[in-house]
Amino acid sequence: MTHMTPEEFRRYGREVVDWIADYYERVESLPVLSRSRPGDTRMALPAHPPETAEPFEDLMRDLDRVIVPGLTHWQHPSFFGFFPANASGPAILGDLLASGLGVQGMLWTTSPAATELETHVLDWFCELLDLPGRFASSGPGGGVIQHSASDAALVAVLAALHRVSGGATEHAGVAAGRYAVYTSGQTHSSVEKACRVAGLGSDALRKIEVDPSTQAARPQHLAALLAADRAAGITPALVVASVGATGTGAVDPVADLARLAHEHGAWLHVDAAWAGVAAVAPELRWLNDGLELADSYCTNPHKWLLTNFDCDVFYVADRAPLIGALSILPEYLRNAASDAGAVIDYRDWHVPLGRRFRALKLWAVIRWYGAEGLREHIRRSVALTQRFAGWVASDDRFEIVAPHPLALVTFRLRAGDDATRALMDAVNATGRMYLTHTTVDGAPALRMSIGATLTEERHVRAAWELLAATAG
Ligand code: PLP
Repeated sequence: MTHMTPEEFRRYGREVVDWIADYYERVESLPVLSRSRPGDTRMALPAHPPETAEPFEDLMRDLDRVIVPGLTHWQHPSFFGFFPANASGPAILGDLLASGLGVQGMLWTTSPAATELETHVLDWFCELLDLPGRFASSGPGGGVIQHSASDAALVAVLAALHRVSGGATEHAGVAAGRYAVYTSGQTHSSVEKACRVAGLGSDALRKIEVDPSTQAARPQHLAALLAADRAAGITPALVVASVGATGTGAVDPVADLARLAHEHGAWLHVDAAWAGVAAVAPELRWLNDGLELADSYCTNPHKWLLTNFDCDVFYVADRAPLIGALSILPEYLRNAASDAGAVIDYRDWHVPLGRRFRALKLWAVIRWYGAEGLREHIRRSVALTQRFAGWVASDDRFEIVAPHPLALVTFRLRAGDDATRALMDAVNATGRMYLTHTTVDGAPALRMSIGATLTEERHVRAAWELLAATAG
C-alpha cells in the first residue's frame, strides 16, 4: 500500500485544477441537461472494485469518459432550472483547503480557528445583509453554517419544540396530535420533511392559504388555524415564513406571521434559502422586513451567492433553546474550554457531531468579491431577469403568473397546460438551455431562474429566442 506522496499530490493536484479550469472554459459547449438514460453510468463502470491500485490517470480518463456524459451542468451559463447552485473559483479553492486540512470543528477545542472563523464570518454575513443585530454572536443569538436549508428547518423545529414544551420533548418525545407547525402551500417541502424527521409527522403540518395575486401566506388564515388548534388542545410550536418561496419566489408577510406566532407562544422561522442573500444590495433590503421579530432565519450562499454547496447560514435570536434541544454531553467530549462555558461548540447547533470547515469557502468568497462584487452579482441577475420578463410580457402568447421582483420569472403559454409542458420539454431537449416547472393555481408554469455564476445577457437572450421560436 502506498499513500499519494506530496510530490504526486502536487502533480495530480495541478492536473485536477487544470481539469476544472478547462471544464469552466468548455462547459458552455456541453448539453445543459444530461442525455444519460437510467443505468448508463453504472453500465460503464466495472462491476467490482479493483483488487490492486490503479493510476490516478485512469480515474481522470473515466471522469471524461463515464462521468461527464452523465452530468447535468449546473454551472452552465444557460442553466435556468430550480434555483442556481453557484460555484466560483474562490469557493472551490476554499473548499479544497478545507479538504486538505481535514479538521473536524465539532468542538471549539478540536480546532479553535474553525469555530472562531465561522462565528466571525457569520457576523460579517449578518452585517453584509444588514440582518437584525439580535442574530449577531455578541448577544444571546448567533449564526452557524448548516449543511442545507432543510437542516435549518429541522433544527428550527427541534428548538421550537424545546421552547414550547419547556424542554420536555427531548425526553418525552412528541405524542401524535400534540403539536402543530404552520406554513404556506408555497413553502419548500423541507418543512414537511422536518416535521417527519422530528417525529411530529406530516399530519402536524397546517397549510396556510395564499393570496392568489402574490402567492404569499394570508395572516388571517394563520390566525384561524392557530385558534382552531388552541381550541382543540393542540399546541402551536412553529410558524415558517418563506422569503422567496421555491415555486414562484413568493414573499410572506413576516412581521404579521411573527406577531401571530408569538401571540400563541410559537417560534417563527424564516426560510429565505434562495432570496435572502439578495439583501447584500441595499435596495433589496425589503427582503428583511419583519426579521426583527423572527426567532430564526436561514439563507443559502450555496444557491445564489457564489459559494459552492454546502453552505446554509442559519441564525437564531436566542441560542439557548437550540442548544437545549441538541446538546448531549458524553464524557468523551468533555473538555476544559467547554466546561468553562467560554467557547461555542457548534456540535450543539446541528444534528451531526462532525463538521467540515465550511467557513473557509465563505470567507474566501467574501474576501475575493468584497461586498461590492457580491452586490454586483445579485444586481446583474435581477437586471437580466427584468429584461427577460419584459420580453415575455410583450409576447401575447405568454402570460406571467406571479410577481418577479428578484431573479425568477414564472410564466406559461396561454395555449394551455399541454402546450406549456411541451414547450419546456422541447427547449430542454435541445441541450441549449434548461428550465424547470412548478404549479401555480393548479396549472403548470415554467420557472426561469437566472443567476448562475457564468450567465451573461447573451445567454438569457438566446434562451428567450429559443422559447419564442419553439412556442410556435
Ligand atoms: N427552502 C427554499 C425556499 C428552497 O428553494 C430550497 C431549495 O431549493 C430549500 C429550502 C431546500 O434547500 P437545501 O437544498 O439547502 O435543503
